[in-house]
Amino acid sequence: MPPQRMTSPFVQATPAIPSRPVGQSLLQIVPSTACLHCDVCCRFPESDSFLRPFFTADEIRLAVGAGLAPERFSDVEGAQIEVVPNPSGEGYLCPAFDPATSHCRIYDRRPLDCRLYPFALMWDASHTQVLLGWDTKCPYMRDLPSAPIEQAAEGTARWIEEDATLEILARYPRLVGRFQDDVIVLRPLARVTERLQQGRLPVRMQPLTIEDRHRLESALAESPGAQELPLAAASFAFHYIWRHRLTYSWADLHGHLCLFADSPDGIFMVLPPLGTGPLAEPVAAAFRLMRERNGSSSVTRMANVPEASVAELRAAGYVVTAQEPDYLYAAADLADLVGDAYRSPRAACNRFLREHDGVFEPYDPRDRPACLSLFREWSEQKQRAGEDDWAKALLEDATGAHEAALSAYDELGLTGAVVRVQGRIRAYTMGLWLNQSVFCVLLEVADRDMVGAGPFIFREFCRQARNKGACWINTMDDSGLPSLARAKHWYRPARLLPNYTVTEPRR
Ligand code: SF4
Repeated sequence: MPPQRMTSPFVQATPAIPSRPVGQSLLQIVPSTACLHCDVCCRFPESDSFLRPFFTADEIRLAVGAGLAPERFSDVEGAQIEVVPNPSGEGYLCPAFDPATSHCRIYDRRPLDCRLYPFALMWDASHTQVLLGWDTKCPYMRDLPSAPIEQAAEGTARWIEEDATLEILARYPRLVGRFQDDVIVLRPLARVTERLQQGRLPVRMQPLTIEDRHRLESALAESPGAQELPLAAASFAFHYIWRHRLTYSWADLHGHLCLFADSPDGIFMVLPPLGTGPLAEPVAAAFRLMRERNGSSSVTRMANVPEASVAELRAAGYVVTAQEPDYLYAAADLADLVGDAYRSPRAACNRFLREHDGVFEPYDPRDRPACLSLFREWSEQKQRAGEDDWAKALLEDATGAHEAALSAYDELGLTGAVVRVQGRIRAYTMGLWLNQSVFCVLLEVADRDMVGAGPFIFREFCRQARNKGACWINTMDDSGLPSLARAKHWYRPARLLPNYTVTEPRR
């Protein structure tokens, strides 16, 4: 199901909302008859969809006055609405949407974000220009010739570039969305761009591509703590495989490479500024940039900060909060499984070999279809085992990450392995080198109905890494999942590597 978006239902013209300082009405291009028979708008595939409409403070007041629960807004000063599960069981609905009648219950008071649709305001891919486009998810627009679209776009662009609307956009920059490649660009909005960039940092944001791998890895290698025991997040692949969930971009701030992710709630830094030298200037610039983009959203933060940078950031007045740590093991422990502490995993490996005689082999990109099919089997096994909602959501998200790792295996510099039983792949794993002595296991899938398949591929993979020089194995954090934490503790971590999030002090 494609992402879905808010509506422009029912009428041709929208009356001006008295409390909004925008003088003229905005013409609706989609007629009400079309909207009433369409099942795209106001519905969202995920609860945190970035397409949920944004309401300004005035619009929140109006919506609440029209009967919407105030709890639907995380911040009364402006927020994307919190959606509710669709009673049909498929996806989520805007709480103002009545699925029985396909009407918006606050139609006369719906926000600017909804009134614009199917036109969309967005930044270009490098975040240097604001564009007006139309969303190809709207079926009515897809069938419309270009002349009426152009004509309506002209009126809409004029309306958007009026002083009153510009002031709203300057106050609520989140009304201008991130670049979407399924939005057809109609024209740049020079006045909006200029207004939004007034007094702002002149930063060129670059979309993260596979070509940036060596640039990012070199910057990581120069950063504090890189030669010691790095976090799993201190690698290119760790982030790149999540591009189906987050849009990554980077910028050079004071000679440091700063990596940002665009989430449904705004942008945040997924790593501290990378490179050599003091962090004060790049960190201050990065927070300013995030504030400019996010307004007051609490998403503004710097994640995956290693212990090595904490003292400097605390001394500069930032708030440092501990997150789930990475699990770090002595490679020799996991490779040999010697002693009483490892009796259970050792027994599981022995049983697997006795009963299935599995063969451990390097991953070959031709194994991808079989691995993905095993991933689907494994997901079903986990669902049957009764995972909680958080675990299910993680599992759903993980599908894209596994697909990306298995596809871009070579470009990402991953090491992979499979276990075959009678020719069929029953387990696979992928990992990468964080530095010369630390190997990170990035993902692992094993047939849960085959006892010992998981412990066996894990031991063999760690053995291979130890034989190639690894002293330490990092298996990332436990995502707050008790079952995963138990499994990680089962192998006796030598250390838990602290991982911090850094925010600005409250003003
Ligand atoms: S506010 Fe109304 S028009 Fe906007 S998404 Fe919700 S139901 Fe649809």
